[in-house]
Amino acid sequence: PRPTAIPRAEELAELARTTAQRCGVDLAAIAGDVRTTSPINGESLLSVGWVDAKAVDLAVERAQEAFLAWRTVPAPVRGALVKRFGELLTEHKSDLAALISLEVGKIASEALGEVQEMIDICDFAVGLSRQLYGRTMTSERPGHRLMETWHPLGVVGVISAFNFPAAVWSWNTAVALVCGDPVVWKPSEITPLTSAACGALLNRAITELGAPTHLSQVLIGGADAGQALVDQSGVALLSATGSTRMGRSVGPRVADRFGRFLLELGGNNAAIVAPSADLDLTTRGIVFAAAGTAGQRCTTMRRVIAHTSVIDRLVEKVSEAYNRLPIGNPLGAGTLVGPLISDTAYKNMSNALAAATQQGGTVLVGGGRRFEDQAPNAYYAEPAIVRVGEQTDIVRQETFAPILYVMPYESLDEAIAMNNAVPQGLSSSIFTNDQREAERFISADGSDCGIVNVNIGTSGAEIGGAFGGEKETGGGRESGSDAWKSYMRRATNTVNFSGELPLAQGVDFTV
Ligand code: NAD
Repeated sequence: PRPTAIPRAEELAELARTTAQRCGVDLAAIAGDVRTTSPINGESLLSVGWVDAKAVDLAVERAQEAFLAWRTVPAPVRGALVKRFGELLTEHKSDLAALISLEVGKIASEALGEVQEMIDICDFAVGLSRQLYGRTMTSERPGHRLMETWHPLGVVGVISAFNFPAAVWSWNTAVALVCGDPVVWKPSEITPLTSAACGALLNRAITELGAPTHLSQVLIGGADAGQALVDQSGVALLSATGSTRMGRSVGPRVADRFGRFLLELGGNNAAIVAPSADLDLTTRGIVFAAAGTAGQRCTTMRRVIAHTSVIDRLVEKVSEAYNRLPIGNPLGAGTLVGPLISDTAYKNMSNALAAATQQGGTVLVGGGRRFEDQAPNAYYAEPAIVRVGEQTDIVRQETFAPILYVMPYESLDEAIAMNNAVPQGLSSSIFTNDQREAERFISADGSDCGIVNVNIGTSGAEIGGAFGGEKETGGGRESGSDAWKSYMRRATNTVNFSGELPLAQGVDFTV
């Protein structure tokens, strides 16, 4: 693979400034003394200011005022705002994608894909704005109507992770806005420019359509600002995406004040490769899911559970593909694997590989570092494949880096049990041409994950389905299907048009 030169600091800083400004970011307004770096070269991009807890309180107060106005705007009219936002995203797709690449190190195609996902959720939400359906139920009493209505919930607080710095917010925001809720966003501290650009584009749509000013607010800050948002009683729904460690802190705190929470946490996603699997297709599916995004997706494939009859051939094919992966500057044409987010991420990867070896595994390919001379502060890791005999401690953990553990199985029951024998429950796949195996995997005693795929990798979900997972992944569902219900409150209505007052369950209370 041809290595692409790592761009210089001034080049990247200039690209950051111009693209942010094109999206409408007022760079002077967000300036401060916290340096942001690009994982592409490990050098400084720009400096930004961080908010304190007081600013969080003020933002929630303003959002509550916006809520009082927004909740009575008809939902299809709310949809018009999201429609305009989607148009602006389309117009600025490459600007926003460039910022994502600069701050997260995503390759150009995946960064563009992330913005496309934002446009898709806007389309979905616009349609949804005319489909916030309640049911009408048959009443047991004559002359009565029983029904449910869905109403706006209140302020939605969003906390997001670094690796989907824009899409996660848009999943929440597009749906929240049509549901009648304002959004206060505490993005990852690693991605302030992307979030400022998202906020600026939405604010432009808000101004153009004359919607309430504080419907969307972006609070650039650290975990302390996130905690302030978590504890704010004015936040009706707290939607948090990030590590299980973060969720373990957030969930109980929101529950303690009887708020609602939606958690999208870590994954440890596996693919079962059955004897009948098409190994060419399987290899392509595995390589994208395991090495794509440099292994930094919550849905990244981290484990392969392969039948003993195919494991050797599979490992050979996947290793061969890994050896050809173009690793390098994510902005360069043809690059498929960009950098890890930080030195800590690389250390975590090295430590996990050492632990895996100590626990009996063998590193078959990868694990090394590239471009160290050119960019000593950037961490380009070679995606690794580790052969293990069983699921040891390290295999059961999520290491947020491109490490793929491969292990054998004999019977499908055993493979399904292995798939489920981790604390996380986000995504899973089976590669098979045996329909009974596929059906078993997606059935009640199959995979215990929120995402269960057949003949496709674990990552790269579409927005039409509900996204999220079970167990330590947090149980939340976002994006499509009926995930909108988390952003609204349900009222059950009994309407009596009979002139009598019959009581339910035949109760007699005649005075
Ligand atoms: P992280 O947990 O370090 O940070 C996520 C966000 O939480 C940041 O905005 C951070 O400031 C904030 N935060 C951290 N501690 C907090 C606290 N105690 N209270 C309030 N806010 C707090 O995660 P990360 O390194 O940015 O992202 C990687 C992790 O996110 C991985 O575990 C990955 O699997 C997960 N992730 C999950 C999904 C999903 O949809 N399930 C999507 C993307 C990423």
